[in-house]
Amino acid sequence: MTDETVQGETGRGPFLSVVVPVYNEGEALRSLHARLTAVLGAMPLSRWEIVLVDDGSRDSSFEVIRDLAAVDPAVRGFRFARNFGKEAGMAAGLRAAAGDVVVLMDGDLQHPPELLPDMLARWRDGAQMVTAVRRSRQTDPTTRRLASRMFYWLFHYVSDVEIPEGAGDFRLFDRAVVNAINSLPERNRFMKGITSWVGFRQVLIDFEPAERVGGQSAWPFLRLFKYALDGISAFSMVPLRVWSLIGLAIAVLSVVYGSWLVIRTLIWGIDVPGYASLMVAGLFMSGIQLISLGALGEYIGRIFNEVKGRPLYIVADQVGKHPAGVAEDG
Ligand code: UDP
Ligand code: MG
Repeated sequence: MTDETVQGETGRGPFLSVVVPVYNEGEALRSLHARLTAVLGAMPLSRWEIVLVDDGSRDSSFEVIRDLAAVDPAVRGFRFARNFGKEAGMAAGLRAAAGDVVVLMDGDLQHPPELLPDMLARWRDGAQMVTAVRRSRQTDPTTRRLASRMFYWLFHYVSDVEIPEGAGDFRLFDRAVVNAINSLPERNRFMKGITSWVGFRQVLIDFEPAERVGGQSAWPFLRLFKYALDGISAFSMVPLRVWSLIGLAIAVLSVVYGSWLVIRTLIWGIDVPGYASLMVAGLFMSGIQLISLGALGEYIGRIFNEVKGRPLYIVADQVGKHPAGVAEDG
């Protein structure tokens, strides 16, 4: 794809793009850049680029990106008009990336750049997607580990798409996979599901996540919960369908209970008290109805979002040039 060598080692090899979503990572970006550059320089590449997508940070992230781009032509930066979320950042980066091979990684150095040569070696062996799987979750708090276990368990049962437990967003993609992902029109983007859904030859490799450098994790519990709902609703219809089954089961139970009431009345006559059973049945049914309405609402809300057709993100500023001179706008 590339004929001249601009960055990295001379000689042949693929053009590699590193895509990093960035949110308040001002403290980590310089060391990320230094470590990445050291690793990339030692790899058999014809060229590389580092695409940093600033997802509306409130700190100095974009200033740092601007400085980096001024000294390193391999750095390209985008700044979103506001915080659109990590999924939007990754989507923007994947669209912007020009490489034959694209690596997606976090900007907080929890994903060690030193794993890149191993990932590239797997690609050379024929894998089209290399997913780094965390060996442990020691860097996460216990409640979050528990919540994530529950999520994987649930997802496994309600969705046809398999997502490997412990797989984060540290991945290497072949150009074919990036094109496939870029071609998906959906706005509710759940990368873990999308990457499995598109298929291709995947391999997993282990890694040990490092502690976060500076700042803090931007995922409070509610946000994680919403993320889980997004993931499940994007890759499963079970929450919509399960109500017909539950309705059927309740109908069968009611027939049995109803017949018993009739028989009992015929044999022993009428006894008036029935407050408890009426109350329980009424409350139970309204609970079930509200839950099923809620599930409907979740899906309708998402349909609404897709139908509005708003862009996934808005780019307010950018630095660095597309390697092939392609003009870009948000
Ligand atoms: N991130 C982002 N937008 C957000 C939240 C996070 O682009 O709204 C980026 C963040 O800068 C980092 C990556 O997504 O590069 C992972 O975020 P974080 O470290 O907070 O998540 P965790 O490691 O706790 O899963
Ligand atoms: Mg992190």
